Amino acid sequence: MMDPRHSPEAEAFRQRVQAFLAENLPEGWQGIGALPRDEALVFQSDWRKTLHANGLLGVSWPKEYGGGGLTKLEQVVLVEELAKAGVPAMGASDLYSVKMAGGALLAWGTEEQKRHFLPRILSGQDLWCQGYSEPDSGSDLASLRTRAELDGDEWVINGSKIWQTRGREANWIFLLVRTDPTAPKHAGITFLLLPMDQPGVDVRPIRNISGSSPFNKIFFTDARTSTANVVGKVNDGWAVANSVLALERGDEAATHPVQFRAEFDRLVAMARERGRLGDPVIRDRIAAAYIRVETMRYLGLRILTGVLTTGTLGPEASISKVQWSEYHRDVTRLAIDVLGADAMVLEGRAPIRSHQADDPGAPNSTASWVGALYNGVADTIYAGTSQIQRNILGERVLGLPKEPGSR
Ligand SMILES: Cc1cc2nc3c(=O)[nH]c(=O)nc-3n(C[C@H](O)[C@H](O)[C@H](O)COP(=O)(O)OP(=O)(O)OC[C@H]3O[C@@H](n4cnc5c(N)ncnc54)[C@H](O)[C@@H]3O)c2cc1C
Repeated sequence: MMDPRHSPEAEAFRQRVQAFLAENLPEGWQGIGALPRDEALVFQSDWRKTLHANGLLGVSWPKEYGGGGLTKLEQVVLVEELAKAGVPAMGASDLYSVKMAGGALLAWGTEEQKRHFLPRILSGQDLWCQGYSEPDSGSDLASLRTRAELDGDEWVINGSKIWQTRGREANWIFLLVRTDPTAPKHAGITFLLLPMDQPGVDVRPIRNISGSSPFNKIFFTDARTSTANVVGKVNDGWAVANSVLALERGDEAATHPVQFRAEFDRLVAMARERGRLGDPVIRDRIAAAYIRVETMRYLGLRILTGVLTTGTLGPEASISKVQWSEYHRDVTRLAIDVLGADAMVLEGRAPIRSHQADDPGAPNSTASWVGALYNGVADTIYAGTSQIQRNILGERVLGLPKEPGSR
């Protein structure tokens, strides 16, 4: 059995995190998933403040921008320990704020942009959403049509975006806009930051299969933002967009499996409680799920090693996205088969997150597993569908010919 260990420095940091958790978590803590929904939401928001106050948010960001100044490996150790303890590593909007907006600014922002935006992201003063997809541009993102035109020292934006998760909470959006309609489609795009609190921005909720509305449609009518809010170069936003997508797709490859393993253990407990472990087909599917979780763990370590060696996350992030999202789709279907007809009657609380596994400590209730199934349906779509990840792997990792009709 392989027993991979991190460096001694990283293991010393692990002890620091464990001491922090022992000091800051309530007696008898079972994981945020064990809290009723309302309490879990309050806990998540308070916990973010605790992480920030202890320098554990943006832990690998440079200190001059409010970060912890630690290494990427220490960040992974932190997320591993938080996942094991069943507490979130971030706030509800931080996938978009800390990870994506922060990640884009760290990699591509000007010194002035970093000094202005990064501390505000960590303090929670600014909340961000991602303005990529449009009604006719999802997988073929580079076909986007939302326009930005220069007017003095401002860009004027017209068009619409769709599926913006947490768009109603956000006060800033990072947008892909077309700034040169005459250039080839990938070449005329700019990555712009835009304040949402202005008359030209209209955010409307979209209701999903679970009845909630985590995402939105956003209309821009002569919305304005300063020319100082371009990230990277004008008409060169495609490069920025891709590096943010890689962060969205693969950055957590090493830590996701911890969460999936906790969910898997809950599934086995449920199958046992319901007397389904004697069913040979269920046993076979559970064994296959176990193999996939363990494979993900080692793949995650491989991707992490690549990031630590090269400093970047490339198209191989797509391997992780395909693996975990398809695993989660399949394992939640298995859970519903274990529940059988009981899955038609929702009892207990639904997951508090709208993607991936339900939180550690979640009860084996029907609402938890059906909610996880709904998340599983979305997992293979957002951040690029499985088909698109396979195209990326074929073309950019394996060097196969491009699909017919593409550039
Ligand atoms: C829960 C959720 C949250 C999201 N959050 C955000 C967000 O915050 N911000 C944002 O900008 N977007 C967000 N999205 C949008 C997401 O990025 C798009 O839904 C996704 O990129 C797919 O685009 P589409 O829905 O237009 O599907 P389409 O592109 O129309 O695809 C339809 C089907 O055709 C297949 N297909 C398309 N092209 C090809 C091809 N070349 N080869 C093979 N198959 C192909 C696809 O795989 C898919 O099965 C979110 C989506 C979901 C589900």
